[in-house]
Amino acid sequence: MHKQHIYFDYNATTPLDPSVLEGMLPYLQDNFGNPSSTYSLGFHAKQAIEIARKDIANLIHAENGNIFFTSGGSEANSTILKGIATKSSDKKHIITSSIEHPAILKTCDYLKKHHGFQITTIPVNSAGIVDVNHIERTITEKTILVTVMMVNNEIGSIQPIKKIGNLCKKHKIHFHCDAVQAVGKIPFNLNELPIDSLSISAHKIYGPKGVGCLYLRESVNILPLILGGSQEFGMRSGTENVAGIVGFGIAAKLAQENLHYNYTKIVRLRNLFLNKLYSEIDDCSINGEINDTVPSTINIQFSGIRGESLASMLNELGVCVSIASACSSTSSKLSHVLKAIGKTDEEIRSSIRVSIGTVTTEEEIDELVRNLKQSVMKLRSFSPKYQLSV
Ligand SMILES: *Cc1c(COP(=O)(O)O)cnc(C)c1O
Repeated sequence: MHKQHIYFDYNATTPLDPSVLEGMLPYLQDNFGNPSSTYSLGFHAKQAIEIARKDIANLIHAENGNIFFTSGGSEANSTILKGIATKSSDKKHIITSSIEHPAILKTCDYLKKHHGFQITTIPVNSAGIVDVNHIERTITEKTILVTVMMVNNEIGSIQPIKKIGNLCKKHKIHFHCDAVQAVGKIPFNLNELPIDSLSISAHKIYGPKGVGCLYLRESVNILPLILGGSQEFGMRSGTENVAGIVGFGIAAKLAQENLHYNYTKIVRLRNLFLNKLYSEIDDCSINGEINDTVPSTINIQFSGIRGESLASMLNELGVCVSIASACSSTSSKLSHVLKAIGKTDEEIRSSIRVSIGTVTTEEEIDELVRNLKQSVMKLRSFSPKYQLSV
């Protein structure tokens, strides 16, 4: 029998919107042509890709020709970082933040280890926000790139992207923004944001997994990561993931049409959740500052228990939430984001992330709080340390 899940991990991935699936199906069936082919079956697939490109460009207020499809957010991030780095012979300094996604941090590590780059990692405050003045102080004549995400995936903090962009413009430094958790969730207008490149992923906005894009301002010239048949204007070779791209386009269009409705709905659900949480469960607190975050992401600490045990007990009850660390036994595996906002190892181990989606219902919020309460009380009853502290 199919088990009913109560899903609260929309920052990890989202289900396909039913109309995304419906729009994709013909491209997995009858319309299977290769977009590079010259007969009409191929041309039809090519046209579908161009419609998707337009819908994605519209979502961020960009021009179609500046959108390059990739296999997702990670590839888009790698493409720009490696693409800029391999072009640069003398400028070998990159500035990033301490709370970036591993797709950025590990690529920076790679450029440091294998290409002699110097990486400056800007710390964040307790709300998980970088200080723009701090970025400015670390800029040197060797700085080629600044890369800061717009919305953090673990705590939801929103960065001062416009200020960072203006700073980079002033110093003529490329500014890349990992916007995977921002685009489609909060208003995003490239006419108002001085960003040179950005990454988007379809599966975080109710589109399919394995597809995303890199936006590149026209003046930017980089070396591609993948060479071959010169698809995507030579920026990303390989036969296109036609159905995936079509699904991405529909997801982008829906995200744009429903942005304000969804945002307001999620604020309401988040407030409902927090009210219930605080009234039902003692000794819990939010990691980060609720006023500086997107409403869909709530990172919570429950004193006296392990986030890992809580998530696994919730899983038994059919509730999906994420933990702040993959493996809580060693300090090095603990969430780098919670560390960066000043949380102790103990606090990080007792944290979980709840992320709300556009399809979340009030009933699911009720169900989540009921299950959280039951699990937290049970785990605390086994915890001698918690018993002593209260
Ligand atoms: C999910 C995510 C990515 C990676 O995107 P994929 O499409 O899964 O490769 C990158 N950055 C952030 C902030 C993310 O949340």
